[in-house]
Amino acid sequence: MHELTINLHMHTTYSDGSGSHLELGRAALAAGVDVLIVTDHNILVQGLDSYIRHGKKQVLVLVGEEIHDQDRVPQKNHLLVFGTDHELATLADDPQTLIDAVRSAGGICFIAHPGDAALPAFGETDITWVDWNVTGFTGLELWNGASELKSVARGKWSAVAYAFFPDFIPHGPLPEVLARWDGLTASGNRIVAIGGSDAHASSMSLGPLHKVIFPYAYHFSTINTHILVPSSLTGDLVSDRKMVYEALSAGHCFIGNDLIAPTAGFSFTAQGRDVSVIMGDELIAHGSITLQTKLPGKTDLRLLKDGKLLKTAHAEALTHITDEPGVYRVEARQHYLGRQRGWIFSNPIYLR
Ligand SMILES: [Zn+2]
Ligand SMILES: [Zn+2]
Repeated sequence: MHELTINLHMHTTYSDGSGSHLELGRAALAAGVDVLIVTDHNILVQGLDSYIRHGKKQVLVLVGEEIHDQDRVPQKNHLLVFGTDHELATLADDPQTLIDAVRSAGGICFIAHPGDAALPAFGETDITWVDWNVTGFTGLELWNGASELKSVARGKWSAVAYAFFPDFIPHGPLPEVLARWDGLTASGNRIVAIGGSDAHASSMSLGPLHKVIFPYAYHFSTINTHILVPSSLTGDLVSDRKMVYEALSAGHCFIGNDLIAPTAGFSFTAQGRDVSVIMGDELIAHGSITLQTKLPGKTDLRLLKDGKLLKTAHAEALTHITDEPGVYRVEARQHYLGRQRGWIFSNPIYLR
């Protein structure tokens, strides 16, 4: 399998971001990202899927959309929509109708920032997802860069400090979002977890201080979704786009906080007697199954089953042999800037 680094969920001047698709693409190229998925609010900007190249480097820029009901107060229930070819924002007032329409259009969708606290000092309201009776969505955004700032900043000056020292922000997915995801998967749903930036590169003015906060380049080297695909990018837009969305749809991916250290090379697999699978996949447990984790560096590693801790190690690899059905996933944390911080979160392997 080949690995591609995706940075997803960001806003341009088409909604409330400050950069153009081309500027974002150039910043992604410099950061070493392979694929960008741009998601402006309630507008599907068409005709901009493309490659941006410089020398031997290239980045594939794909355009999706973040849809929510703008008449709702407060404006909760944001949905990331990828891979559709027409505007669906008119369906935003009913999340289930919207999700069904995305699927009918051949697209995939992810609940954006499932937990997202208010930050009153900056007029930011709570935009947590609340309609949890919906079905048929592909997955959820387990780790969202903007939600995390809102959760760690205690007030105005704390937020300002984080704006100047953003490397201190990423702690890990919010515990309530992790618990929600584990609850959904443990009760029989296949729910793909992705990590998003929610980048805007907005300007902040506070008295004499003016600053572009959280530039795109910062986000592109922080919370990325790494997908495992059959080949590297071919340069054919139609087939590359299909390959990327198929990997996300299948959950063949993990979330990596590349700010701490590069996460490329992580793997989580299961080997049965005749077949082996990767994260996102399902495997019928006939006899013993060997779950194997390999990390790109030695760190604190946790293997979880149905959301409950099964095994820990401080290692570069972990093996577990089992014949018990369940939803198995791995998370790795590292000590960085004075505390344990989330580094890698795998998608589950479903043993049935
Ligand atoms: Zn949003
Ligand atoms: Zn957003």
